[in-house]
Amino acid sequence: PEVEEKLLTFDELGLKPELLKSVKFAGFTTPSPIQAQAIPVVIAGKDMVGQAHTGTGKTAAFSLPALHNMKLDGSVELLVITPTRELATQVSDEIFKYGRNLGAKTVTVFGGSSYKRQLDLIARGASVVVATPGRMLDILKRGMIPDFAPSTVVLDEADEMLDMGFLDDINEIFTYLPSNRQTLLFSATMPAPIKTLASRILKDPAFISITKGETTNTDIEQEYYVIDEHERDDAIIRLMDSETTDKSIVFCRTKSEVDRLSNVLSNAGYLANGLHGDMEQRQRETVIKGFKQNSVKVLVATDVAARGIHVNNISHVFNYHIPFDPESYVHRIGRTGRAGTKGKAITLLTPLEFKELQRIKQKVGTSMAHAFVPSKNDLRS
Ligand code: ADP
Ligand code: MG
Repeated sequence: PEVEEKLLTFDELGLKPELLKSVKFAGFTTPSPIQAQAIPVVIAGKDMVGQAHTGTGKTAAFSLPALHNMKLDGSVELLVITPTRELATQVSDEIFKYGRNLGAKTVTVFGGSSYKRQLDLIARGASVVVATPGRMLDILKRGMIPDFAPSTVVLDEADEMLDMGFLDDINEIFTYLPSNRQTLLFSATMPAPIKTLASRILKDPAFISITKGETTNTDIEQEYYVIDEHERDDAIIRLMDSETTDKSIVFCRTKSEVDRLSNVLSNAGYLANGLHGDMEQRQRETVIKGFKQNSVKVLVATDVAARGIHVNNISHVFNYHIPFDPESYVHRIGRTGRAGTKGKAITLLTPLEFKELQRIKQKVGTSMAHAFVPSKNDLRS
């Protein structure tokens, strides 16, 4: 007889009742695969590397067991390092939600805002610090937190931190951390420098990989359209009109392309806004907030600017240009199909860009369907 695979429940993972209450309040019924595997390992105090594609619940996979293990003695017991401020804020909101019933206080530490406020909050008995690499290193170098010795340290979205050039900062941060710590590293992809980093900072880690040899999510339908160079704007608009889109991200190669295309789309009547690294922080935050709250429906962005944006209900990812690097393809399309929802990724390419398509197909092992841009007549009927 066939043995049915039994799904674990959160109760069976051995979490404290206060945490089970928060999980229930968040509306989670079943642990995701990475959560089911990681939670017992982290509770047991082991180091681990966790690889799973975006949107699979990695934040709860480390924060629930880390909160479970806390003594809550008024010192910082958990340090989480994330690539961007947006992500730091998001992770800290989530940890706050889970830790509320335990009384665990969480402080977010990033550049561009006052040291004093952040340090005061830590001094007032924070159990969790969520930080971006630059500001964290600065604070450690200057010895601004007395007796800083978190027992658990998490590198979240490690591959994104690598892409953003934070590897040296991270290595240096670890020189200030206690050697008898527990270290956890989470990443959607595992490029060689991340493996090297892991072997340096982790001790005898458990490796948990949920990707089963494929790095993209099967809930994402993938299509490509072959067009001529001058047809890009027209094709994007026709595809947006023919698809039932909720929210979408359009990826561009350059900042100036972001500015130009977001204007084209706004003028065509879309609730479009651009996002790139030359914009002021305040402006960026306004755009991201608008996107979360649905006043912006089409986000036109560069790869770097889109890092750290984890917005649910993105129905479509458009690649205005095919990305050169297969890993950025994986990152881009991972913005949709989150938390078990369906998503669609649409890539425009010219005949000259077939080589890139082949590279992505080979490296990512993904299946992409060739489709045709609807004609103006198709749209009218
Ligand atoms: P990742 O870090 O893997 O990209 P997140 O931790 O940001 O993913 O989680 C993605 C989304 O899934 C979040 O909105 C989160 O609240 C939700 N989520 C996490 N765990 C569960 C679960 N067990 N059941 C339902 N939703 C979940
Ligand atoms: Mg994450």
